[in-house]
Parts: sequence; structure tokens; C-alpha cells
Amino acid sequence: MAAQAVNVLITGANRGLGLEMVKQMVEGKIPVRKMFACCRDPDGPRAEALRTLAKEHPNKIYTICLDTTDLCSIKQCAQLVDSQVGTEGLNLLINNAGILLRHSLLETSTEDMQETFNTNIIGPMNMIKEFLPHLRAAVKTSNIPGMSTRKAAVVGISSLLGSIHDTKETYSNMSSVAYRISKAGLNMMTMCAAAELDNDEILFSLLHPGWVRTDMGGKDGLIDAQESVQGMLDVMATLTEKQNVSFLDYQGHPLPW
Ligand code: NDP
Repeated sequence: MAAQAVNVLITGANRGLGLEMVKQMVEGKIPVRKMFACCRDPDGPRAEALRTLAKEHPNKIYTICLDTTDLCSIKQCAQLVDSQVGTEGLNLLINNAGILLRHSLLETSTEDMQETFNTNIIGPMNMIKEFLPHLRAAVKTSNIPGMSTRKAAVVGISSLLGSIHDTKETYSNMSSVAYRISKAGLNMMTMCAAAELDNDEILFSLLHPGWVRTDMGGKDGLIDAQESVQGMLDVMATLTEKQNVSFLDYQGHPLPW
């Protein structure tokens, strides 16, 4: 039996890993009914590749203007998605948008912390809150037992740098204090969401994409976006209630919190 097609939303979909996720998903890696590819400036120069892709898949890709640090923008986006999915709801929310400031502790300002927290923690939190009705609608409509990304799921793109475990060993290579703390915070926020929404049958997962050659990862990254996203989509496709609130890398290996 063919897998059920899903409604998906991806933040930061205009470049890097977000754009590659849109590309691989509409090409069939995960069967998609409607893909809401959200970015800050869908008409701007940095969204050209996304616009081209959207033109190739006019009935599948919906580009939506979304700044995840702006609650009004999130609410408007939720309304637009609502008008498209109705009672079908949203099956998969991927909180991918993120920023990285490469500052050490002594270099990190209050503003650095606030900007990074706004994007990397508060944005994903507000996305979960505003899209909860759509995720719940997807659960209600679905006849799939248990938990899965085909039913209703929130995937947060986290980072190994948010793992507290090896900080002393890895710090000298990559301090990025605000980023590290924000990804640890994203992980905790996701844990809290999963605990609070325990009865909703919505799966929560955190994925580390690897060190990837994107604008953020830089040219020395170990893998390209295609390999990272291929891995992450394979992992997403196999997630069940057994991996609820898991922190996994793009190859499916569990990571220390
Ligand atoms: P990029 O810097 O290449 O892309 C970041 C994306 O996030 C862009 O689309 C950017 O949009 C968007 N974004 C930033 N702030 C906002 C905002 N306020 N509202 C909406 N969109 C926003 O990063 P990657 O693709 O490499 O990273 C994607 C995710 O993967 C991030 O969460 C990152 O932390 C994580 N990650 C990446 C790793 C890597 O090696 N690349 C390693 C570990 C984790 P715009 O074009 O408007 O700036």
C-alpha cells in the first residue's frame, strides 16, 4: 500500500538545509500533499531557488512569508495554512530556521543572547503553540495507530553543540556560546512540549544534521546538504512512539543530551 501523503511545514525553507528538505520531499522522499515552504522574504533574492522549485510544483509547494521571531507573522502563517489544509490538519512541522553567532562567552553580549534565543528557542516554541490546532486536527483525521511523522509530528533541527555532555572537549573548536545554549534550550523546550502534550499523540523529535556545508556550516563541513537531508528524511520516516522525544543524528544514532 502506498504511504499516505502528508501536509508539511518547513521554516527557513529558502536556503541551506530547509531548501534541500523542500526539494527532496517534493521529489518523493516523503510523499507530500501540501508543502508549506516558509521564509522571511519569499520575493527577495535569497529565495530565488525556492521560487524556481515552487514553479515546478505549483500544486504542492506554497511559499509563505514567515519570520519566526515575530508572533504576528506566525499567526498569519497559521491562518494561511488553515485555509489550505482545513480539517486535514498539518502532519509534520519542521522547525529548521536558526542562526549561529560564533562568539565566546566573553564576546557574547546580552543582545547576542536575546537574538539567538528569539530565533532558536522562542520561534520554535511559538510555532508549536500556534500550529497545535493543526497538528491535533491531523491526529483526529488520521487512522494511523501510534505516533509517526505521517500522522502528526514536530521535528526540531537541533545541534550536537547543544549537547551538554562533551562541552569541555569540544568547546575549544567551537565556542558559539549563545548558539550552544539556545540548542540545549530548544531540546528542553521540546521535552516540555512533549510532556505537556503527552495525550495528544503528537511525536516530538530533535535531529542533528551533521556538520553540513551550508552558509551556516561553512565550506569545511563534513557532508553536503543533500546527504544530510537524505539521512534526516530517512530517520523522520521511521520515527515511532519508541523514538518520541529522541535526540538523534542524521544517521539515526542517539546523541547524549
Ligand atoms: P543557513 O544559515 O544556511 O540557513 C538558515 C535558515 O534559517 C535560512 O533560511 C534563514 O533565512 C532562516 N532563518 C534565520 N532566522 C530566521 C527567522 N527569524 N525567521 C525565519 N527564518 C529564519 O543554516 P543551515 O541550513 O545550515 O541550518 C538549518 C538548521 O540546521 C539550523 O537550525 C541550524 O542551527 C541547524 N544546524 C546546522 C548545522 C550545519 O552544519 N549547517 C549543524 C547543526 C545544526 P534568511 O535567508 O532569511 O536568513
